[in-house]
Formats: sequence, C-alpha cells, structure tokens
Amino acid sequence: MLDRAELKELASMDGKGSYYVSLYFNVDPILNKRGDYDIHFKNMVKSKIESLDKEQYKRVKADIDKITDYVFSNRRMFKKGLVLISSAGNSVWKVYHLGVPVRNELVIGKTPYTEPLADVLDNYEKFAVLLVEKEDARIFVIHLGEIVEYSEIHTSGVPGKHKQDVWFALSKTAATKHMANAGKGGLGVTGLRTDHYQRHIDTHVRMHVEDAIKGLDSFVEGERIGRIIIGGSDEAVSMTKGLLHKTILDKVAGDVKAEMFATPDEVLKITMPIVEAYERKQEEETVGKLITLALSGGAAVLGPADVIAALREKRVMSLVILKDLHAEGFVCGNCGLLSARKVEPCPACGGKMEHVDYLADSAGELAIRQGAIIEVVNDNKQLAEHGGIGAFLRF
Ligand SMILES: [Zn+2]
Repeated sequence: MLDRAELKELASMDGKGSYYVSLYFNVDPILNKRGDYDIHFKNMVKSKIESLDKEQYKRVKADIDKITDYVFSNRRMFKKGLVLISSAGNSVWKVYHLGVPVRNELVIGKTPYTEPLADVLDNYEKFAVLLVEKEDARIFVIHLGEIVEYSEIHTSGVPGKHKQDVWFALSKTAATKHMANAGKGGLGVTGLRTDHYQRHIDTHVRMHVEDAIKGLDSFVEGERIGRIIIGGSDEAVSMTKGLLHKTILDKVAGDVKAEMFATPDEVLKITMPIVEAYERKQEEETVGKLITLALSGGAAVLGPADVIAALREKRVMSLVILKDLHAEGFVCGNCGLLSARKVEPCPACGGKMEHVDYLADSAGELAIRQGAIIEVVNDNKQLAEHGGIGAFLRF
C-alpha cells in the first residue's frame, strides 16, 4: 500500500548511474469509456522514445519493455490510476493500483518521479478500522480502495513500567500468525463463567481495550488518518467508544459488527458501506458548495460549455463529474480543442472538428493534464440538473 514510509523510501532512492522510468497512467473506466488505454499508452511511449538519444534509449529499454508488458497483461487489475516505477539497474520495480485517477505521464530520471504520489496521499482521506475483542485488537488502514493490516508490538521492557504499543504494517505471514492467535484468544475465556471470574475478565478486558486505544492517538496522527471505524461485538464497540477521548471520537465515522478472525478482505467488505456513505456525504457537500459558489458568481462554473471554456483557459482546480454523465461534444482532430457545441472549423487552428460520444473522457483528460483533481460524483440530482459537470476554479 502507498503510505508515507513507502513514499519516503522512494524519494530517497538514488540512480547510482542508472535511470528510473516512472509511469503514471489514468485507467479510470469512467474517464476511459471508449476503453482505448492502449492507444494512449502507445502514443505516450512512442513520443518518449523519440525524445531520447540512442545511448539513453539503450539504458532504459529494459524498463520500458517491462512497463509495457505489465500494462498489456494486467488490465483486469486496473482500478483508476496505475503507477509503475522501474529501474532494472537498481533492481527496483514498484506497482501501485490506485483507487483515484492520475495524470498520464512517462518520466525518465535519475530518481523515481514521486510528486503525483505525494499529491494523492495529501488529497484522499484515509480510514482506520479498529477491531476490538476481549483479548485482542487489530487495526487496518483503508486508503484508495486498498486495505492493509497493522499490528501491535508490545515492548514490555523494564518491570513496573507500562508497556508501549506501536502499530506497524503486517507482512502477510505475520498477519496469518496473528489471526491464528486471535482465534485462540477469543475461545480461551468462554468456558468459565462464575461471577468472580467474570469480574476479573471485565477488568482485564477493560485494561486490554484501554491498551488497544492507547497507541491510537499517535497512530492516527502519524499515518494521517482522517476517519475511524470501530468493529467488534456490540459490547466491545460500546466499551471502546466510551474510552475514546474527544479528538478521536470526533473522527469515528461508524461502527460494524465484526469477528476478530475476519480476513482483511472481509473487513474491507463490511466497512465499505460506511466508507461509501461518508464519501456520498462528502460528494453532497462538494456539489452544494460548487453550486452555491457558481450561482453567486464565485470561482466555480457549471455545465459543459463553461467547464470546457475554463479548461481551455487552464483555470480548473478540481473537476466535478457525475458518474453517468453522457454528454457529447466536439474535439479538434488537429489541436485537440474541445467544444460542447458544434463549431466548424476549429476556432483555434481551423482544423476539422470531430464528434465525440464521451465528453467526460476528454474533459477529464484535459483536467488531469493541467494538474486538476477529479471528483466523480455517484448520484446527485442537483448536479444532474446543472449539466452533470462543474469545476472549482483556481482564479
Ligand atoms: Zn484546432
């Protein structure tokens, strides 16, 4: 998963005489309704190769070939943005399937090109899922449609000193082992049910939950977690919530009933409705702001014609598109100028204008090319009434 530590590692990589080839590729199906990734990719590679001299090309050919193979044989894994970083000379190969679109770029340099990855990390909300049960706690991070489990390190050092909990990303083997232990722990305490024993357990459980949430503060801050989901039995969830202090509690987006031994994929599946509900709420707020701003003459526009005009002037900061937008338009075959209305010939270069079925594809491409963020809205009546597309402007 893409996180700060990973980004730091990438940023600190040095070519040592070899090159890095970094591909950023927009594979969002909503912005590629025609599914013509292949053409975009081939054009990008072709023009990059043409810009290199023979000696340079020789030194990056293995990387370009590897990237090309990957793009053509892994299409079923595409999400919205694909990032590949290759340096055969440094034995580096990184693959990121992102849940957000990125601007198409193929960059060759002495270090990996990481700036767009940093932007992605800054702009999209991260969720933490805290799973709590009697004797165990697990923590997951959901970001850009991916889930990763983190685990606890108990450093019980000097006697009398309280142990410190640190959460760290689990490797796959560690996750399996951890899950096996979680299962055992859960079963171990169910047999005995005398009052005395129950009280003992209650105290113990409470201590455990306090332990589990103790490391949460620094974890949430360090990993820049925006929202938290609490999972477990009703009892565990309410106990946990009761023990959280306000700064953390304010970030709780919801809770779920979950088994301690759930796999990361199962956790992703049961928490998805909360993540999606949160995103829908965000979308509604975004559309509300957009419409208010545009109607009051602020730095925002609504409808295909005004959005395209703003794109042409490179004023778009973020583009807001309805998922099922079916607007048609016209694009210049010569200079790529986009128009919502039929004009003939191209007002910029006099070239021939061609009809396009999916205006959103072309608008999205233009927006990404000028570094704008794209926000796809799933379903929104208000936005639909304003042409299904709008934009916040830089100026
Ligand atoms: Zn033109």
